[in-house]
Amino acid sequence: MTDTTTADTETRAFDPDVLREKYRRERDKRVREDGNSQYVRIADRFAQFSEDPYVETPIQRAPLTDEVEVLVIGGGFGGLLAGVRLRNAGVKQIRMLESAADFGGTWYWNRYPGAACDIESYVYLPLLEETGYTPIERYARAPEIFEHSRRIARQYNLYDDVCFQTSVTELRWDDSIERWVVHTNRGDAMKARFVVMSNGPLNSPKLPGIPGIETFKGHAFHTARWDYAFTGGDVRGNLDRLSNKRVGVIGTGATAVQCVPHLGASAKALYVFQRTPSAVNVRGDRPTDPEWVKTLAPGWQKRRMENFNILVSGGYQAEDLVSDGWTEAFRELVHIARKEGAEGLSPDKLAELAELADFATMERIRGRVDQVVRDHEVAEALKPWYRQFCKRPCFHDEYLETFNRPNVTLVETNGHGVERITESAVIANGQSFEVDCLVYATGFEVGTKFTQRTGYEIYGRDGRSITEAWANGVRSLHGIMVNGFPNLYLLGGAQGGFTANYPHNLDEQATHVAYVIDQAQSRQACTVEPTVEAETAWVGQIIDKARNAEKFLKECTPGYYNNEGRPEEANRQNTTYGGGSVEYFYILTAWRDQGDLAGLALK
Ligand code: NDP
Repeated sequence: MTDTTTADTETRAFDPDVLREKYRRERDKRVREDGNSQYVRIADRFAQFSEDPYVETPIQRAPLTDEVEVLVIGGGFGGLLAGVRLRNAGVKQIRMLESAADFGGTWYWNRYPGAACDIESYVYLPLLEETGYTPIERYARAPEIFEHSRRIARQYNLYDDVCFQTSVTELRWDDSIERWVVHTNRGDAMKARFVVMSNGPLNSPKLPGIPGIETFKGHAFHTARWDYAFTGGDVRGNLDRLSNKRVGVIGTGATAVQCVPHLGASAKALYVFQRTPSAVNVRGDRPTDPEWVKTLAPGWQKRRMENFNILVSGGYQAEDLVSDGWTEAFRELVHIARKEGAEGLSPDKLAELAELADFATMERIRGRVDQVVRDHEVAEALKPWYRQFCKRPCFHDEYLETFNRPNVTLVETNGHGVERITESAVIANGQSFEVDCLVYATGFEVGTKFTQRTGYEIYGRDGRSITEAWANGVRSLHGIMVNGFPNLYLLGGAQGGFTANYPHNLDEQATHVAYVIDQAQSRQACTVEPTVEAETAWVGQIIDKARNAEKFLKECTPGYYNNEGRPEEANRQNTTYGGGSVEYFYILTAWRDQGDLAGLALK
């Protein structure tokens, strides 16, 4: 054991070389030849897995062929924030378009028992000061977030012109009228001068391509379409109709971590099929303290969001305002760096210390498993062996405890996953587990074809499709605007920013879009789009910065963060801005402050 190992981290001593080697072995075990194509798209014979189980009244309406100023596709936080920032800029005619039956986006669809956000609600829920709303608890549960989405829509009159239960089937630019024509599954051919797309990064649930999956005759559903008619109960749990059922859940990611405790509490028997364990840290939820709320000065939310974002991006802040499991690794880093004499550390030295801090945090997380889970073998199986940000970090105070229940079995598959599904059972490790119900907690499409995830093609100038324009990789300015696709704005996608606090990025982009549209109007421009030169320069930056992140991701266990273990095979152009969200937000702000719409062609 080397000196640095003892790193005095109020945790178990560790040997970095041993951990590195262990991480590598665990990773190699999981990298598969078929990568992302191991998953099955929810379409055709699996189409029923994406049907909306929550809609109360299916709408009937005549097709629309009218014209609006701005059409916003997507009623999640991205679409809502675009609506709000456009309202603030004085845009009156905004039509929202959404495939669900209400606003909320991911918080409309994800109503599985236990669904909640584990980014602190005071930084996650947008527009708290503007709406005068105070979250009930430190970590908001799904219904509260869904209701907050509706609150925003009400306050900014976004219900005034909304088409719910409407999915776009095609976006086509008509140069003769300089308008977008938006075709939908309801026969609409509405026109819009500007279109803002915020389709969500994780909007298409996916299934595992396990042999025999189509043969299962029991009840099955994906967590993003929870079937309460079958399970009973609601988002708070009490799944009373499962008391005589054997349930299998496939997947142990962030979603499973939240719903497994409820399944374990209600099902007659629960089998949790695990391929890779999540890192489950302390959640420490608590009611919002009204006395603390009284101390908040105007502008507090933006300050808190920025403070959190800088810290989780690896930057320095004198104070850690949120101080939770997300910023823990940073606190550890400061602690170690101080001991090393923080002044003048080279980037390589800092990276080395960050790795040590990560080891220390993960050792604590693994130690927690030993403290909670009584069966030694089960505890060992639940320990994650990778760096904390290789996968979505999880925070839960009942998940690990669930494996102490006599009716709950962890089916650990040593990185191999489920082998086969039959009419009535799940086969793993050569053993058959008979189940009445299968819950797929297997996540969402990432890295598949853009128009597969949106569900529609976009035809820009001269009928050129975005598929063609992006045949060799995404091209854009700031991840928001695309040459050849005038007056079109994309939120939350490739070549934009990425941060753990996802709505923060959406708000920065929505603010940017509202600015550009406002400028187009005040300069009386009919069309706005980036020049090829500006796009090429941005693409160059994206490719350059992607190299930085690749080294970290290459050593990570497979998952959707790293192209299922092969980040080097992903097109660098299709990544988010590798310089981090702090830098990205700065770039957007500085560009607006410059005031000359650099890189845009206005006609
Ligand atoms: P993930 O993609 O994170 O997890 C999918 C799970 O399915 C993984 O555990 C994966 O294993 C497993 N899996 C896939 N195929 C198989 C197989 N053949 N056999 C066994 N297991 C298999 O999806 P989630 O829905 O959990 O989370 C998606 C994202 O949604 C999160 O990353 C997060 O961004 C967001 N989210 C946020 C929450 C929050 O705020 N608290 C809560 C829930 C979700 P493996 O790891 O080996 O690939």
